[in-house]
Amino acid sequence: MNVVRTVKELRATLDSTRSGTIGLVPTMGALHEGHLSLVAAARGDCSTVVMSIFVNPTQFDDPADLAAYTRNEERDLALAQDAGVDVVFLPDVTEMYPSGFATTVQIRGTITETLEGGSRGSGHFDGMATIVTKLFNAVAPDRAYFGAKDAQQAVVVRRLINDLNMPIELIVCPTSRDPDGLARSSRNTRLSVAERERALAIPNALQLIRQEWRAGVTGVNALHERAVEVLDRSNISLEYLAFVEPDTLEAVDVVNDPTLVLIAATVGETRLIDNVLLSDDAV
Ligand code: AMP
Repeated sequence: MNVVRTVKELRATLDSTRSGTIGLVPTMGALHEGHLSLVAAARGDCSTVVMSIFVNPTQFDDPADLAAYTRNEERDLALAQDAGVDVVFLPDVTEMYPSGFATTVQIRGTITETLEGGSRGSGHFDGMATIVTKLFNAVAPDRAYFGAKDAQQAVVVRRLINDLNMPIELIVCPTSRDPDGLARSSRNTRLSVAERERALAIPNALQLIRQEWRAGVTGVNALHERAVEVLDRSNISLEYLAFVEPDTLEAVDVVNDPTLVLIAATVGETRLIDNVLLSDDAV
């Protein structure tokens, strides 16, 4: 496995393997099985797998959240190597944002202004789109692997690729969960044992919504109410529980097939997100 820290070294390394298919897995490190499931998908499809590890400061609205973000380079590199990553791109902040940096990729409209864009501010998706564009330009991958866990991010990246005619196939991999249902997240390590137990109300509320919908309940108000009861019982502080059309992220009143249901909630001090796609095609 090659570890490179500059765009120049990255390009030189990839130039020697350019003949095959290149898959990119962008991450912010603190790797867990969710990230490694993206690597496994890329490993299955591509001759060269590149992972980027970069905690992108411009997508954090809260400096305390940025400071608290776990960084453990040695552990991440060992996990990436075991998972079969060929090249890790590990730039520092000045490599990605040298002095004088002045460009922002901005995607407008409902897909960036609601949900995470509403809660975390419009700068969140500007920062994300800008760094993803830079990573796409640096790596020039054939395929890019993102997780369904960050469903809105995947919608925004799809818009970016289409709008800017990037010759990249977006692969969205299913949310990887712990056996009890909690979506894997770098933030889960911040939960105490008791908080982790309470956090299970998040996937449980989503599963209840799915069950009720399968049983014939399609009104969003009724589904919302039932889910909030589950969250309240575990003292989860709900930021949003939204029922939206999966491509436009426009809110719906009645669940049609498909509808995406997204939650953001805080357990203790830790903000978690999760989602479920209500669709007859979804398992
Ligand atoms: P992050 O390091 O949190 O920015 O995540 C990097 C990539 O891993 C993003 O595409 C995430 O959607 C994806 N990811 C994070 N957690 C999971 C998970 N539990 N299952 C699947 N993909 C995930």
